Amino acid sequence: MTDPQDVQKFLEDENRRAEEAGRKLEGKGRVGWHHYFMNIAHVVASRSTCDRKHVGAVIVRDKNILSTGYNGSIRGLPHCDDVGHDMVAGHCVRTVHAEANAIIQAARHGVRIEGADIYTTASPCWECFKLIANAGIRRVFYGEFYREQKVFEVAQQLGIELIKIE
Ligand SMILES: [Zn+2]
Ligand SMILES: [Zn+2]
Repeated sequence: MTDPQDVQKFLEDENRRAEEAGRKLEGKGRVGWHHYFMNIAHVVASRSTCDRKHVGAVIVRDKNILSTGYNGSIRGLPHCDDVGHDMVAGHCVRTVHAEANAIIQAARHGVRIEGADIYTTASPCWECFKLIANAGIRRVFYGEFYREQKVFEVAQQLGIELIKIE
């Protein structure tokens, strides 16, 4: 898909579908599990050290938190908040992203995440999506829609669900 109008329409359709999927999961009243974990992801994001975007991620199975992550520098290296961003082609590349850090934290602690869900405050970038897919995570709940066409196309092929939780 290369025509910008097709891409635009595809992304709008995907966002609408993901929103609808999220709405179907939860009714009104007491905060449901999906919002509960998404709220926690927002708290995790508050630890981010790159103010270009604060992102938090929580990996969950059977209503249990297995791991969390936020975007920050390589361990032991200075933070964007202290030394400024490391910009390459319009993106800050200093940080390890939240979803990657959540997967890494599970690896460091020997926690199995295959078949789990991930809650992330923004829909994953392509690099993180590849990690999520190969980690065996089957559902991605996201807050803010980050317009990465390839993620939404490939998720469909792989049968990975992308669901918006506001
Ligand atoms: Zn930065
Ligand atoms: Zn990412």
